[in-house]
Amino acid sequence: MVSYSVRGEEPVVVEALKVRALPEGSCDKLLEFLRLYRDAVQLVVDRIWGINEKLSWKRLHRLFYNDLVSMGFRAHHAKEIYVYANSLVDSARSNGGRKPVLRKLSARIDKYDYRLDLDNTTLTLKLHSDYEVKLKLVTSRERVEKYSGWSNYELVVKYEDGEFWVSVYFRRVVKPVKPRTVMTIDLNFDNITLALFTLNGGLIRLKRFKTPHRKILTHRIWIERIQRRYPKSWRFIKGVRKAIERHGKKIKNISLDYAHKIGDLVAELALKYQSIIVLEDLDELRENNKKSKKFNKKLGLWFYRRIQFCIEYEARERDLEVVKINPRGTSSKCPRCGRKLVENKYRVLRCKNCGFMGDRDVTATLNIYRKYISKYSRCGAPGVAPNTPKPNENTSGMRGNRDEAMPTSSYMNSYES
Ligand SMILES: [Zn+2]
Repeated sequence: MVSYSVRGEEPVVVEALKVRALPEGSCDKLLEFLRLYRDAVQLVVDRIWGINEKLSWKRLHRLFYNDLVSMGFRAHHAKEIYVYANSLVDSARSNGGRKPVLRKLSARIDKYDYRLDLDNTTLTLKLHSDYEVKLKLVTSRERVEKYSGWSNYELVVKYEDGEFWVSVYFRRVVKPVKPRTVMTIDLNFDNITLALFTLNGGLIRLKRFKTPHRKILTHRIWIERIQRRYPKSWRFIKGVRKAIERHGKKIKNISLDYAHKIGDLVAELALKYQSIIVLEDLDELRENNKKSKKFNKKLGLWFYRRIQFCIEYEARERDLEVVKINPRGTSSKCPRCGRKLVENKYRVLRCKNCGFMGDRDVTATLNIYRKYISKYSRCGAPGVAPNTPKPNENTSGMRGNRDEAMPTSSYMNSYES
């Protein structure tokens, strides 16, 4: 599991390392702890449920801290327990659900209550009543080595089907390197177009990746066909529901796999050129926006969000900066003079005002660059307008390089079968 935060002061990368863990010696104490922990969370849930108002952390502390500590929990256990219980109640209430009932054995443990030894892949947990348990993590040195420079802050230990699992959360602050080039990315239904610019707006490279849209659509058509055949009952017939689930799962796998690989590819390229990556802000797509409609109808906006997420994540892992611009007008306005473009022929747009002519997707990448410059030039970014490539340089260049320099082209093409 990965995630990152940009809203805060400094961007961080957060990652969870989930591994199986084997207790050294008896596992009785750990099991006892997990049961005690679950029951304590339930106890707090029950009491908060009866209070029927929002509780501050201060109040939670006053209400539950002493009781929990007298049950043998350490100070930070107590805090984790009432904070977790409170969040369970909060989310149940906001969903209009019933009072949460805990069955699974799982505990969140603060960084003060465990010691992690990455070199020896061992973990020592501090349990209730001053008990300690040492666990051997079932993983390789190579897998954990990555986190040696990171800071760990919290972990979750679980007991599932007779096995213990731990997820350790690691965090690393990203310090973006100073960009030498600008990479703009335009997401489309059937392709992803990427353009690389120098800081003065010179076009260095164009690249186009195919999306697995055809494969995804095939599965989606299957789903729709089945649903049309059983318009009212498909949810209730097991075989039909299973068939739909199967196609849904395929779509999900194809999408996740693709997003991950494209994120990696794009970030590697950006690393090579030390680029700042400029994406369109999908949150700013309005309902009536042409692109938004197109996305939703054909592949689902979440697919593009996932691609962006992976690009951002992989970029930050490489200490590269990512910014987003408002996508409004990027595929309809002239990158040279800003007037509305008209379609000249298939995929080619033309400006009646200044004579600009260009491939539709490449035009979008130029506009994204232009928007980036106008938004960020005042805070130290380069301020030169793009020297737009000549009309035919644009399209012919793209034609020749359609799938240029794609080390994974066989992989990408496999979607086209
Ligand atoms: Zn123009």
